[in-house]
Amino acid sequence: MIPTSSKNQGSVYFVGAGPGDPELITVKGRRLLMDADVVVYAGSLVNDAILSVCRKDSVLLSSAGMSLADIIKTLAEASRAGKRAVRLQTGDPTFYSALAEQAAALDVLNVSFEVVPGVSSAFASAAALKKELTVPEVSQTIILTRMEGRTPVPEGEKLSLLASHGATLCIFLSISMIEGVVAELKKGAYDDNTPVAVVYRASWPDEEQITGTLKDIAAKVEEAGITKHAMILVGDSLGTMEENDARSKLYDAGFSHEFREKQS
Ligand code: SAH
Repeated sequence: MIPTSSKNQGSVYFVGAGPGDPELITVKGRRLLMDADVVVYAGSLVNDAILSVCRKDSVLLSSAGMSLADIIKTLAEASRAGKRAVRLQTGDPTFYSALAEQAAALDVLNVSFEVVPGVSSAFASAAALKKELTVPEVSQTIILTRMEGRTPVPEGEKLSLLASHGATLCIFLSISMIEGVVAELKKGAYDDNTPVAVVYRASWPDEEQITGTLKDIAAKVEEAGITKHAMILVGDSLGTMEENDARSKLYDAGFSHEFREKQS
């Protein structure tokens, strides 16, 4: 039984581990890991190499085989014992991370905690591709989303609806449904020529990048045998500089024609 007094509380930190590369954790996150007495890490996605900075006597637990109740009990007991606990999550801990339910459970027990951001796999994927996701004249909006699967998605956030904006999309947790993703996107502002990139295990030594268009990406992903651990990035921002240059010159021409003298 966990006492509910908040006296002698240790500290609980949810820390973003980053996308994989052990150097892509924040300096603060690394320091907290170095100081931690107890670390509960997302075993299936967090790179073990990140844990090499932990003290020899710290307790390292993979959450892969733990239930929510087990995780909360471990964090709360550590806090009650005045220890420093880190819950190490993949990428950034504030999305697709079950942070909400863990935070709510700790709140019920009166266990305070802090959250330390991390480098999301969406941003590691864009960096791997060397792409700006907000190319001027092309897109100024990034949508982080997922395709509906076993986890339902609210009606107003269906991929086909989000696709109506033509923004740059970072699609998580959906690579196994790539054909469905393509079909939904084509109901919106995207077409067969829209550039798509899939990054498998961004920032890991075995990272793979697959680039194409909505027409051929599903076949390419299937051929590469990628069924998990991959980010799908979609939108004209993912196109080549030549394509985007051409587009912005077109826009420039119209603009100078209407509003100002053409400059030589
Ligand atoms: N909060 C995490 C996402 C966790 S959900 C973040 O900010 O990155 C897990 C999903 O993230 C995977 O299904 C995959 O879509 C994506 N993902 C996680 N790590 C990845 C990586 N290194 N490369 C590509 N995609 C990754």
